[in-house]
Amino acid sequence: MEHAPPRTWAEIDVSALRHNYRVAIAQSGGKKGMAVVKANAYGHDTTLVLDALEQESPDFYGVANVSEARKVQARLPRARIYLLGAANPLEYREIVERGLTPCASTMEELVTYAEIAASYRKATSIHLALDTGMGRGGFLPDTPAYAQALTFTHPYLQVEGIGSHLPVADEDEAFTQEQIRLFNTQSPTTFSYLHLENSAGILHYQNTHTNLVRPGLMLYGVSPIAHYQSLLKPVMTLKSRVSLIRDLPAGHGISYGRTFITARASRIATVGIGYADGIKRTLSNAGAQVWVKGRYAPILGRITMDQIMIDVTDIPECLIGDEVELFGRHILAAEVAERAGTIPWEIFTGVARRVERVAV
Ligand SMILES: *Cc1c(COP(=O)(O)O)cnc(C)c1O
Repeated sequence: MEHAPPRTWAEIDVSALRHNYRVAIAQSGGKKGMAVVKANAYGHDTTLVLDALEQESPDFYGVANVSEARKVQARLPRARIYLLGAANPLEYREIVERGLTPCASTMEELVTYAEIAASYRKATSIHLALDTGMGRGGFLPDTPAYAQALTFTHPYLQVEGIGSHLPVADEDEAFTQEQIRLFNTQSPTTFSYLHLENSAGILHYQNTHTNLVRPGLMLYGVSPIAHYQSLLKPVMTLKSRVSLIRDLPAGHGISYGRTFITARASRIATVGIGYADGIKRTLSNAGAQVWVKGRYAPILGRITMDQIMIDVTDIPECLIGDEVELFGRHILAAEVAERAGTIPWEIFTGVARRVERVAV
């Protein structure tokens, strides 16, 4: 049986990914690294990303939940895996059995993990989460519970690290500096791992107190702060192909709602990608462009589920079958996000499962 190539695919530049990881470590001043690979490695495909990053030997891989941890463990059985947020109690036993590293925000969590670790007679490591301003989890600083957690000891549960998170490192320097100061005063260096910085924290702040950084977005080549974009290389390029080209007269409506009407006789290409692939429908009539034949071509009218229309009137060399870039090397995912009214994290994680990821 003939096997046609995918109509829409995402090229994953594995050497760019390694470059970005090295940039994260260098910008941090040579700290240890936790490669954040939650949400299918920000939509880039966990397996491809693990295979690329393995030679950089991250100290930890950061995931959101146990099912993501299983995937990492299947590929890298010896890797240390950290759960970035609170686990629910139904996950605790598997976390201990698999030797994952969770974090605790309450004494109840610490005690429960300790009991489970003891029941399996399995030495387990855990980190304390400290809420310095994110409001999503963690002990509050200067509280009796936190003081108790800092001195917690148990034969099977070792508190080996303390972590906190930065909610506004890309937009509020004063608040972030205050968080850094608070974290530093609240996290004794007797713990093996002290970690606070996400991508924006790594790129924009110096903190010699922490010894582990948690880069996510920047690994995938997008800086949360535009100033640092030139340090990074885009990793994912989302591509599709022209499936049809038609000549339409002036005054012809394009797509649902007829929100765009041709102002001139136009050459319109139909491209085989839509919102079901992860092209946000809010990009409709938002001035968005694609990259085809080395030129920018505007997207016309509404994004449909599986197809979009682009104006190639001024690109006569564009032909059926040509590759079209939606974002990646020539169009930054951050620009697309801004036009779509969202953030690059959501653009990446919104790339649908049906889009094949291909290492390049
Ligand atoms: C997702 C996440 C990160 C990575 O954040 P980026 O802004 O993508 O670098 C770091 N730490 C925690 C706790 C996270 O949940």
